Amino acid sequence: MTITKGYAALTPNGKIEPWEFQRRDVGASDISIDIEFAGICHSDIHQVKEEWGAAKFPMVPGHEIVGTVVAVGTDVKKFKVGDIAGVGCFVDSCGECEYCLNGNDHWCLDNSAYTYNGIERDGVTHTYGGYSKNIVVKADYALKVPAHLDRAGTAPLLCAGITTYSPLRHWNAGPGKNVAVLGLGGLGHMAVKIAVAMGARVTVLSHSASKREDALAMGAHHFVDTSDRVALKELSNTIDIIINTVSADIELRRYISILRQWGSLVVVGAPGKPYAIDGFSLMNRQLSLSGSNIGSIKETQEMLDFCGEHNITSDIEVIAASEIDNAYDRVLASDVRYRFVIDTATI
Ligand code: NAP
Ligand code: ZN
Repeated sequence: MTITKGYAALTPNGKIEPWEFQRRDVGASDISIDIEFAGICHSDIHQVKEEWGAAKFPMVPGHEIVGTVVAVGTDVKKFKVGDIAGVGCFVDSCGECEYCLNGNDHWCLDNSAYTYNGIERDGVTHTYGGYSKNIVVKADYALKVPAHLDRAGTAPLLCAGITTYSPLRHWNAGPGKNVAVLGLGGLGHMAVKIAVAMGARVTVLSHSASKREDALAMGAHHFVDTSDRVALKELSNTIDIIINTVSADIELRRYISILRQWGSLVVVGAPGKPYAIDGFSLMNRQLSLSGSNIGSIKETQEMLDFCGEHNITSDIEVIAASEIDNAYDRVLASDVRYRFVIDTATI
């Protein structure tokens, strides 16, 4: 065991403060990563506030991790010391269930271990995330980060990137498809960049009119302020895929009406409260209401390679660890432009 410095919420809804804890020794199939950057995801805030139910404290959040490999276990072939590695939302799965075997290890039926606020597969050890100096993980659950991409800007790809890439691929975003991205925050701005790179026509739906210029600079073709009822109505029957990244429980029916035949509204935002949904709104044009959570290790690597090829990184504000509480307040006020990333050298 080694002692690692990190930042943690010691109690539900507590401030994020310095905390020391133990990482396991590097096992035969593990790597040790000195973390350089860790993104702040809105999911970190939901969990610190226990908006998804009871959580484990002290909690070291962080599942958008990039750093340098400093040790490799004897069985590890995938990484060598000095490589740049990433860690996303989960660090283990059973490897034997239907979904682990069909390449969807993020849907493991038997306890995938989440990167933090989770339990290792030994059933007892708590997991601690990326707001820390170092992490020890199984090499199979770490990702290879394209070396030419900016490391700080790459960290958010490990959650925000894959969470939007996966449903865009599943619903065949590409040339001839109209994609609407609802909410321009961490996930939303990645959805815009990735959907544009896939060749889709992209509309941003935002309740922050001040984000218009940024959205267009990211490559979006159209921006609609969601308080503008006329502009929203003009989109009726035009959109094939809506990626809803909003962290609050909005009225989905307002947006379902903009879908064209066989279109889908994909829920990735996770407010932790039920949406009110009227079945009638889906019937005409055979529309779907669907969801998506993160992505498999295989697809996360595919996403990183795609971003490497298209030079896609996140638009970030790098902060010191002492500024995390303030960053949380700004995320909650929809004032993130467009992801906070912690420079872990400041821990
Ligand atoms: P974020 O950076 O805070 O972005 C959320 C955006 O939603 C805001 O920037 C804002 O965009 C919009 N919004 C917020 N409150 C709103 C309100 N009351 N009404 C209308 N729009 C509002 O958060 P994030 O990190 O992108 O995460 C977004 C959500 O996805 C969170 O709930 C998170 O837990 C969830 N998530 C899910 C997965 C998954 O696997 N499914 C993975 C990661 C995160 P505008 O200012 O443009 O309107
Ligand atoms: Zn996340």
